[in-house]
Amino acid sequence: DESRILQFQITLYGDDERLVMARDITRLHRLEQMRRDFVANVSHELRTPLTVLTGYLETYGDMADQLPSRLARGLSQMQAQTERMQNLVNDLLLLSRLETDQGGGDHAPLTLPPLLERVRRDAEALSGGHQRIEVEVTEPRRLAGSEQEIHSALSNLAFNAVRYAGEGRHIVLRWRPAGAGACLEVQDDGEGIDPLHIPRLTERFYRVDKGRSTATGGTGLGLAIVKHVLLRHDARLEIISRPGQGATFRCVFPAERLQTATASDTAQRA
Ligand code: ADP
Repeated sequence: DESRILQFQITLYGDDERLVMARDITRLHRLEQMRRDFVANVSHELRTPLTVLTGYLETYGDMADQLPSRLARGLSQMQAQTERMQNLVNDLLLLSRLETDQGGGDHAPLTLPPLLERVRRDAEALSGGHQRIEVEVTEPRRLAGSEQEIHSALSNLAFNAVRYAGEGRHIVLRWRPAGAGACLEVQDDGEGIDPLHIPRLTERFYRVDKGRSTATGGTGLGLAIVKHVLLRHDARLEIISRPGQGATFRCVFPAERLQTATASDTAQRA
């Protein structure tokens, strides 16, 4: 009557024995779907009121110099908090889109250096010149991937490096060969992360230091977004870090995702 979803687990013992276990996960699957829809709907519904609030706050913000200073301070607090809410709603919407849309698809090959440069400039603006941020490209191939998604993954990693590494640090954005594939990497020489936390970092809202993360304007969804973008690109995330020794976030793409730039591409760009 109704289709069911089964999960099989096959365990091999020696050469000819296997244990097969089947589990009916229909209900679990349905609950998961409901959770996703709920989050997507709530986020969507929150967008309109936030837009209205932002509109009014902007109008009043223009008159801030005519307001008593206490009111003006309150107004700027309200602006900051609505902006935070907006970031949160946008990240939640992006995350549910990444979870539900069919991944990958056919993408025009992406040329990484301009994208890295764009993210470098945005990260520099966020850092206010307090960190040295560089781009290093040693991989000539292009990536079959969604420009928008790769951009948001890379921005999240770069902005995290700016936020958590601390002032006076050095941050490198790299596109380099890795085995037969290639790797998009963000490295900082900041405070690093206790290995205890690393396995859980890509969970939604997981933060090592909640207070600090909120103060730096994070939503707690950045690395969850990175993880889902990479899943959709057959790539994996490696996090290498030690306390006091900086952090490296590696997105490793398989060779099948890479394309050698052809002569006509090069001509087109010239
Ligand atoms: P958010 O930054 O919004 O809190 P993320 O999912 O982007 O959420 O990151 C999760 C946590 O991982 C952060 O709260 C922070 O504790 C830690 N983290 C991420 N990047 C770095 C980094 N480059 N150095 C140190 N800690 C980091």
